[in-house]
Amino acid sequence: MSHHKVVVIGTGPAGYTAALYASRANLAPLVFEGVQPGGQLTITTEVENFPGFRHGIAGPALMDEMREQARRFGATVKAETVLKVDLQNRPFQLTTDQSDYTADAVIIATGASAKWLGIGKDEQLSRSGGGVSACATCDGFFFRGKEIAVVGGGDTAIEEATFLTKFATKVHLIHRRDRLRASKAMQDRALENGKIHPVWNKIVLDVLTTTLETPMGEKVEKIRALQLQDTLDGSQSELPVEGLFVAIGHQPNTSLFAGQLPMDETGYLQVEKGSSRTTIEGVFACGDVQDHVYRQAITAAGSGCMAAIDAERWLAEKGLAE
Ligand code: NDP
Repeated sequence: MSHHKVVVIGTGPAGYTAALYASRANLAPLVFEGVQPGGQLTITTEVENFPGFRHGIAGPALMDEMREQARRFGATVKAETVLKVDLQNRPFQLTTDQSDYTADAVIIATGASAKWLGIGKDEQLSRSGGGVSACATCDGFFFRGKEIAVVGGGDTAIEEATFLTKFATKVHLIHRRDRLRASKAMQDRALENGKIHPVWNKIVLDVLTTTLETPMGEKVEKIRALQLQDTLDGSQSELPVEGLFVAIGHQPNTSLFAGQLPMDETGYLQVEKGSSRTTIEGVFACGDVQDHVYRQAITAAGSGCMAAIDAERWLAEKGLAE
């Protein structure tokens, strides 16, 4: 079983930033990529709000840069997925799909995954740049002058719909009931916004597409309409839109830690305020796995830096850093 001072689980901006800082502190971190190497940014197209890239950068390219930067200073990145962790005994034990490891400190950066509608097409188009997204802050800009739809009735849906009115000509807010779950203040603001059109009691049955040719001669499948079903009478209708934002919640990737680390009622890991420390000494959490509020690449990266610094200080205190 190979032993490491620091193991980082997850390779989004939080995981790679933690790995970068830990490697520069001479801790030679071992990083497990997991099922989605590079994390959620690898399923977006252009990232225009990560500081330092004034012309934007493709999500996968940004993650490649982060990985190589961490490796340059001594991080080892393994294409393995952690299947089991034992945080009750020291050193901590981790079992991946390929091997077993032990670690003095563990940095959890397993992120969160957007929930999709379960129809397949929405998730597929989000990966191919077909006009479907789960992040208005990331992709709203691409829908300037277009008519689009947001699905969901919670705070995220309302916040996204409101934000998207900066770009879109019209935002259809599709909800499966006739009452929003979102807080009253946010609802009122959204419903007063002349660009937001609620579509009550409807679910999205399908995303209808058209095939366009880019100036480079490449064929791309783009959303053209949504096929909706009324939840009361079952009738179906088509809603023409050029974009779809799915905002039906996120699922933190925390099942590995069930019963070992405290989580809030929606499954997000809880950390000590203003730090990355969990209730188990030597276990730190960063990025979206512990943040359902900001959920940005830059905030995840910032918290990854915090986790590495917290881990480094803890290891030094315990005499485990050398
Ligand atoms: P929520 O779980 O609160 O809301 C999800 C919404 O999506 C619900 O309206 C739900 O409908 C709907 N939904 C779920 N599954 C489906 C489906 N398969 N098809 C259609 N609709 C579906 O998630 P949020 O991301 O909105 O919020 C998560 C947490 O973060 C909340 O605690 C929220 O308050 C908080 N938050 C706070 C913000 C703020 O204060 N500024 C901003 C964003 C989030 P139904 O209502 O029928 O269940």
